[in-house]
Amino acid sequence: MADNLNLEVITPERLALREVVDEVVVPGLNGELGILPDHTPLISQLKTGILSYRQGTVRKQLHVSGGFVEVLSDRVSVLSDVAEKPEEIDIGRAERARERAEKRLASRSEDIDHPRAELKLQRALTRLQLARKGQS
Ligand code: ATP
Repeated sequence: MADNLNLEVITPERLALREVVDEVVVPGLNGELGILPDHTPLISQLKTGILSYRQGTVRKQLHVSGGFVEVLSDRVSVLSDVAEKPEEIDIGRAERARERAEKRLASRSEDIDHPRAELKLQRALTRLQLARKGQS
């Protein structure tokens, strides 16, 4: 029986988070996936969204985008393209990224890489949602 979970979030650039936690919820491709200690082992793909974790009564959140989660009875390992804590998010930069992506998606040009622009928009919107929540 595992009492808690060793949560690690790793990007190509860095170890974004390493914490002992009681519960994790990740944005799986097919919806939110809640993980408690002794969860059945699995590997799932992640989409752009908010990963949340609980330590006792304290809940914290992280922006993640793409990659995978591996779940073992006492371990949750996330390998994601990006990961940011709310306090690491530059709101001005996210606003500018949102505007650029919206302009691209609204343009009629054939040269637009729609999936790429859509991904950038989702990332920017998630960053804004998370960073603004932290401010209120
Ligand atoms: P931009 O066009 O502003 O660079 P982007 O959507 O192209 O945004 P990503 O490819 O999602 O950026 O991320 C590249 C790197 O920059 C990652 O390490 C990511 O964590 C970081 N990053 C991107 N936007 C922000 C932001 N608003 N605040 C903090 N870090 C950011």
